[in-house]
Amino acid sequence: MARVDYHTYIESDEWKFKAKAMRWIAGNRCQVCNSSGKRLDTHHRTYDNLGNETPSDLIVLCEDCHEMYHETSKQVKFERTLDLFGVERMEKYLEEIKNANTFMLGEIDKAMHGKQVNVVGVVTSIQPRRSQAGNPMAFVRIVDIQAEREVIVFPRTYDTYRSLLTEGHLILVRGKVDAQGSHPKILADTISNELSSYAT
Ligand SMILES: [Zn+2]
Ligand SMILES: [Zn+2]
Repeated sequence: MARVDYHTYIESDEWKFKAKAMRWIAGNRCQVCNSSGKRLDTHHRTYDNLGNETPSDLIVLCEDCHEMYHETSKQVKFERTLDLFGVERMEKYLEEIKNANTFMLGEIDKAMHGKQVNVVGVVTSIQPRRSQAGNPMAFVRIVDIQAEREVIVFPRTYDTYRSLLTEGHLILVRGKVDAQGSHPKILADTISNELSSYAT
């Protein structure tokens, strides 16, 4: 990856997306103190992979924990706390996702049209809809560290799995890629919140 200019990158849509995605994945909570009511920042633990960060390069911090982090005298102690809580949790999450045979959302593109896939993401919005026959269904958006994608949940699937559809919750979706329109979508067959249920 070409060297990235820090200031250009930090102002880019790409970084803003990634920072927001990290906050969703962290459950919109500080990964150190677990608070949810304060401003949350996505902080770089290292700039080694600037522009191509992995989740363990980043950490979601509330404004107080973030400020504490930047007091250099406390940094060493602080890094140890991160390893015990936030980063370990994030790495466990990524490991589980990998074990569940999933594609990253950024990998879902036109070339995958018609393919059966497993994906994992945090629910960012749920739009209730009606099918042509008048049955309840939903358009659900999910996000991971790479991209946000739309999941179409048709009536039969919606009826079975609607209790798992909550904003901010992690879900696994098994379904088929529909890349006919301008944005690739996933037509859901089954939904789960048990990562292990997809590890085959
Ligand atoms: Zn905090
Ligand atoms: Zn920072």
